[in-house]
Amino acid sequence: MYLGFGTFFLGFSVMLSVVNDSCANDNYYTAMYLDPMYFVFALPPMALGLWAQFKVKSAFKKYSQVRTQTGINGAEAARRILLRGGLGNVTIETAEGMLSDHYDPRSKALRLSADVFNLPSIASVGVAAHEAGHALQDKTGYMPLQLRSVMVPAVSIGSNLGPIIFMAGMFLAGTLGTTLAWAGIMLFGATALFALVTLPVEFDASRRAKELLVSQGIVSSAEMKGVNAVLDAAALTYVAAAAQAITQLLYFLTVMNRRNS
Ligand SMILES: [Zn+2]
Repeated sequence: MYLGFGTFFLGFSVMLSVVNDSCANDNYYTAMYLDPMYFVFALPPMALGLWAQFKVKSAFKKYSQVRTQTGINGAEAARRILLRGGLGNVTIETAEGMLSDHYDPRSKALRLSADVFNLPSIASVGVAAHEAGHALQDKTGYMPLQLRSVMVPAVSIGSNLGPIIFMAGMFLAGTLGTTLAWAGIMLFGATALFALVTLPVEFDASRRAKELLVSQGIVSSAEMKGVNAVLDAAALTYVAAAAQAITQLLYFLTVMNRRNS
């Protein structure tokens, strides 16, 4: 469901402050120190991310222990929603790892983690219905999902290579100018844009899930409290990821600006 950027950037800040120093007029750096400006940018979204992850895990744990009144498990909930949506061709498989649930649009497969697949719990049917929501988005050609799929190749390169190219660009700015650094910012910018496009995709999948679980009688409206707790906490992790990517981008721009001034 969610892989954070946060820890990666923590190590980065040390290196960037060295880059900052080397970009001073005499092109010479004295010591490695932590750039306080980095923490001004990074700490609030990082704290939000940790809090959201804590909330997801605790909500998931709590509502994994609450049985659905119907006795329906995650796999069955997903199967019902898919069939009703005319998606009998989508396969439902198990995925390795905890909270590793996802829908793969290329192979038309819904992959559910073992607990979600097997357990007849509120948390399981909530997550399974959310993933089925992505399959329905795929079927109806939901635009943000398509946009997101198109962006995947650029993002898989940009999220890692962007900051490295940016840093290399800052080191070499004295000889090369800032072109390379800007290329790094652009590459990473794709990552930030991706995190933003992810938000409507995730919110919409959860909205569909909540609606379908009740309308198809999988969960009663009294049981929705638990579904909401799990899915809303999951949504918050995506908000945190977007906030992290955007603040990281803003930080790069601030470093650039400091160099120029
Ligand atoms: Zn999702």
